[in-house]
Amino acid sequence: MKQLIVEMEEYAKAHNIPIMQKEGIAFLMKFIKTNHIKNVLEIGSAIGYSAILMASSDVDVKVTTIEKDETCYMECLKNVKKCGFESKVNVVFQDALEVNLAEGTTYDLIFIDAAKGQYRKFFEKFEYFLAPNGVIVTDNLKFHGYVGNKDKIESKNLRQLVGKIESYIDFLNENEEFETKFYDIGDGISLSTRRHNEK
Ligand code: SAH
Ligand code: MG
Repeated sequence: MKQLIVEMEEYAKAHNIPIMQKEGIAFLMKFIKTNHIKNVLEIGSAIGYSAILMASSDVDVKVTTIEKDETCYMECLKNVKKCGFESKVNVVFQDALEVNLAEGTTYDLIFIDAAKGQYRKFFEKFEYFLAPNGVIVTDNLKFHGYVGNKDKIESKNLRQLVGKIESYIDFLNENEEFETKFYDIGDGISLSTRRHNEK
């Protein structure tokens, strides 16, 4: 397992795959264990690095992870097999925005880590599948330090993408149903939980 994780980190580096930073995944694993999270939905598997590590947080954690890129999906499947996690990690090859989850399915934790420009769409689609006391986690909210520093960016595409992350942050801050806390960990992580209105 340890060896596989190192191999995955090297593969990601060599192929420019943006897997979670060590600090970020360590935070998430601890959160899963402390809060007795059992069912995780991940949007954006890449090669399965975060899915496998989340699944390894505790014995009864199960992860469903969605990936739309075929090469990544194949690599992810291979890695899940290598560590014998076939019964813990379910890899779905589809665009997350087109996935049809069975009605009534709920997850204790939903981890949004796919196309940064679509974060709001993912949130609005998958919030219905969050367990009542569940949490929606979003990664890369600092986006390498670009968020909040848009005027320093020369590339128009990058500026637009950063703009979308900034408006996603506004969306979270203004969301009446969810309360969001932001953590300056890894590349920036947020945790959104439902507000339970007091009587
Ligand atoms: N969670 C991974 C990293 C994911 S990188 C880790 O930390 O180990 C983001 C991945 O999201 C890429 O592999 C990309 O192909 C995938 N992706 C982007 N848009 C998507 C979509 N709409 N549906 C499913 N996967 C998507
Ligand atoms: Mg990420």
